[in-house]
Amino acid sequence: MKIKTAEFVGSAPDFESCPPSELGEIAMIGRSNVGKSSLINMLAERNGLARVSRTPGRTQLINFFLMNGEWTLVDLPGYGFAKRSREQTDKFNEFVSDYLAQRKNLLCAFILIDSKIPPQKVDIEFTTWVVQTGIPFALIFTKTDKAKDKGMAKNVEAFKAELAKHCDGEPKTFMCSAKTRRGRGGIMEFVRQSLVARKSAS
Ligand code: GDP
Repeated sequence: MKIKTAEFVGSAPDFESCPPSELGEIAMIGRSNVGKSSLINMLAERNGLARVSRTPGRTQLINFFLMNGEWTLVDLPGYGFAKRSREQTDKFNEFVSDYLAQRKNLLCAFILIDSKIPPQKVDIEFTTWVVQTGIPFALIFTKTDKAKDKGMAKNVEAFKAELAKHCDGEPKTFMCSAKTRRGRGGIMEFVRQSLVARKSAS
C-alpha cells in the first residue's frame, strides 16, 4: 500500500477525549524504546511523523494519524516505565485498556516486541490480556537488522511458547526492521486486507 497522505489528526490524554471516527483504526503499542515511532515513520514513509525519542516514557498520549484519508493509524503510549508511580501506572493502564477494549472501529492492535531480547514478563502479560479480552491483534518483532538470525528465531519461539502457556492459538507474526524496511510489505498488505474485510462486513 502506498501512503499518499499522512496527517496528524490530534492527541488524546484519555479515552473520553479520543476523536469520534467511522474509519477503521490500526493501533501500535509496545514497551518504550521498542522502535514504535521508527516503525510508524517507516510504514508511513514519513521521517518525522511520529517522534523518534531517546527518552523513554515521554509520549503519554494517544496520537491519531489519518492515512490516505481512509484509515487511522493510532500511536498508543509505550508501556513499562520504571520511573512511574503506582498511581500513574494504574491510570495509564486504564487509559490504554479502555481504548483497546472499547474502541468500536479498532481493526487490529499491533503489539511490538524487541526481537533482540528473550520474552519479557510485561510483554507476555500484556499480550495475554489482549488475547483474553478478545482484541484483534498481531505481533511485530522489531529491530531484526540488529539481531543475529539464530538468536532472533530463538527469542520469537520462546515468546510464542511462553504465550501458549496462557492462551490458545498461533498469533499472526511479522518480522520487521525500520532500518532496512523489512516487513513493510507484509504489514501493509495485512492492513489493506483488514480494511477490505471491514468494508465488505458493513
Ligand atoms: P519507541 O520509544 O518505541 O518509539 O522507539 P523509537 O522508534 O524511538 O526507537 C528507539 C531506538 O531504537 C532509537 O534509537 C531508534 O533509532 C532505534 N531503532 C528503532 N527501530 C530500529 C530498527 O529497526 N533497527 C535499528 N537498528 N534500530 C532501531
